[in-house]
Amino acid sequence: MATSRIAVVPMKVTQMKVAQVPKVGADFQIVEREIPKPGVGQVRIKVQACGVCHSDVLTKEGAWPGIQYPRVPGHEVAGIIDEVGAGVSAWKEGQRVGVGWHGGQDNTCRECRRGDFRNCRNLKIAGISYDGGYQQYMVAPVEALVAIPESLSDVEAAPLLCAGITTYNALRHSGALPGDLVAVQGIGGLGHLGIQFANKFGYQVAAIGRGSENAALAKKLGASVYIDSTSTTATAAEALQKLGGARVILATAPSSKAMSALIDGLGPNGKLMVIGATFDPIEVTPVQLISGSLTIQGWVAGTPADSEDTLRFAELTGVRPMIETYPLERVAEAYARMMSGKAQFRVVLTM
Ligand SMILES: [Zn+2]
Ligand SMILES: [Zn+2]
Repeated sequence: MATSRIAVVPMKVTQMKVAQVPKVGADFQIVEREIPKPGVGQVRIKVQACGVCHSDVLTKEGAWPGIQYPRVPGHEVAGIIDEVGAGVSAWKEGQRVGVGWHGGQDNTCRECRRGDFRNCRNLKIAGISYDGGYQQYMVAPVEALVAIPESLSDVEAAPLLCAGITTYNALRHSGALPGDLVAVQGIGGLGHLGIQFANKFGYQVAAIGRGSENAALAKKLGASVYIDSTSTTATAAEALQKLGGARVILATAPSSKAMSALIDGLGPNGKLMVIGATFDPIEVTPVQLISGSLTIQGWVAGTPADSEDTLRFAELTGVRPMIETYPLERVAEAYARMMSGKAQFRVVLTM
């Protein structure tokens, strides 16, 4: 009797699910797309988790110049390298990696030639310059890759690649030394990480929040003092002056008015470190800055090497983001939750 032979060919997955913004201001769409191939100097990442950051509003609402639509947002990506493109030797298939705000530099502009990749004139941003992590597979240039340590899960690592690195890097470059009074304004997506990092850096941490209900959480995160900015007995600036004046105030809540009101809470040589992004002006008089030699500085995230420092520090000290997770299909709900400001504290999509 003749036996028939059946060749078993494993079905190759060629399609993936993608959450895209079809055009400026439009609702998210879940669509199927062909899984992309990595080009020269790129890798393909099988995305496991992607944080939903407030800056994704830039892609959603077209507030960043030159975005081409449809566009897939997402710059807090954690996953596994699934294929490496030509010319890639330092990264291997199966390696856990992430992509944060710094999505690649040109290596040719004046800042890059000085080694200041963070301020590259032609900086690429994942989810803005090319499709980001709100999808099952993404392609990224090797300049954007961050190695993720084994002990951090994907959903924990993802928010550390934007919210985490931004607070960590801003604080470690702020000039504050162990023992200094450092205030963290805002207890939210950025602030809850800022308080933890500031505490582990050895600062005396004053957390500034709205209302008394955040006091217990702020202390649990590592603040030694909680200042209620809605208090009618003293302003937050007065409360800081009572403590001697802050060496650094890390301004995380996107309110220029609140930031302006805090400047008088700085001590001599104090610095207002601005990371909460808004488009309206901070108000300050020259006399305020001159007396006490104060500084106002802005800070943007950092390089993938800075991200690896952030992850390693988090691994060493136990700093972790507090997260709410949503499956990719519920992207609209996840985004709305982030925008509501009520999430505790970072929203993360899982694939
Ligand atoms: Zn971000
Ligand atoms: Zn450059």
